[in-house]
Amino acid sequence: MDFEANLAPYAARSAVSRGRRFAEPAPASRTEFQRDRDRIIHSTAFRRLEYKTQVFVNHEGDLFRTRLTHSIEVAQIARSIARNLRLNEDLVEAISLAHDLGHTPFGHAGQEALNACMHDYGGFEHNLQSLRVVDKLEEHYGAFDGLNLMFETREGILKHCSAANARMLGDLGQRFLDKKQPTLEAQLANLADEIAYNNHDIDDGLRSGLLTTAQLDEVDFYARHRREVERVYPGIAGRRAIHETIRRMINALIVDLIDTSGQRVSAAQVKSVEDVRNAPPMIAFSESMDREASQLKRFLRQNLYQHYQVNRMTSKARRIIRELFDAFMGEPRLLPPDYQIGLRDTHGADSERVRLQARKVADYIAGMTDRYAMREHRRLFTVEEI
Ligand code: MG
Repeated sequence: MDFEANLAPYAARSAVSRGRRFAEPAPASRTEFQRDRDRIIHSTAFRRLEYKTQVFVNHEGDLFRTRLTHSIEVAQIARSIARNLRLNEDLVEAISLAHDLGHTPFGHAGQEALNACMHDYGGFEHNLQSLRVVDKLEEHYGAFDGLNLMFETREGILKHCSAANARMLGDLGQRFLDKKQPTLEAQLANLADEIAYNNHDIDDGLRSGLLTTAQLDEVDFYARHRREVERVYPGIAGRRAIHETIRRMINALIVDLIDTSGQRVSAAQVKSVEDVRNAPPMIAFSESMDREASQLKRFLRQNLYQHYQVNRMTSKARRIIRELFDAFMGEPRLLPPDYQIGLRDTHGADSERVRLQARKVADYIAGMTDRYAMREHRRLFTVEEI
């Protein structure tokens, strides 16, 4: 049965994929990309997303987004758009659910701190780490490390990449060197991510009290939809008003993305994934929507991501990551046995071995959930804690 028979000619398909790194028999009851999605959902890294920060640290409240609920929202938005454009829903779902697997604890603060720690050892980049999780770190199968995902899923996970890293990645990095595009599904998952976080950060920001609706009125996109909600439901207030506003914003972004992308795809007359790779990016917002989204992002940066209460958590997170890293680099014997494999005392060791140790420490720290990192920090630095 061809589950992908109704897709557009420019959609990704199992049959014309660049395949898996280790050959496997084709699945009987699902597409190759469904199999990828299923492997991602069953992975260990996926379950950890439940306890990893998006903006708010996990213990700050039960109702804030975590990386898990964020990833599910991204997948939902991406699938709605994919169905409208007749793109491969299973592929966008797989990419969306996997896109944050490599994130450190404590969100962007954690990523920046770990990158600074890894400065002399090849750096740390969460996109690359997501790929490392699905290619190497997951231990699920007898025949290979990682999840052995399809090329197109791995390509979608690797959103950005420096030229130096691209050269090391071989076929997967080539598009960054050739300045070519990934599949439309990968382009779509990327923008669905933006739609999800811009909107849920408003919701979480208001819920936490760090943002007020009065402040948000300076964002045109929010204010316009808020006025519309008050016109339809006079006197509406509180959570209901916020939700009615945000659902309209998400819908407006989705509709704009479907329209604009649909027009671009037909204007470019692409007939295959190969054409898509050679064309300019086609999944996009209209210019006016782009302007509105930029204003919203600027607002969130200034008022939420740099709120002093968020800064305090960010500062603590940086300290925790740095102190964990330094402790494990100084005394690798403190690492759990699995992470010590191949490491000896690095005293006087050659630079290659130090780099290997640093990468193992980075893998260990990046895999931690927020609460695990805090607990591990207490275990190492508090005498009373074991
Ligand atoms: Mg994301």
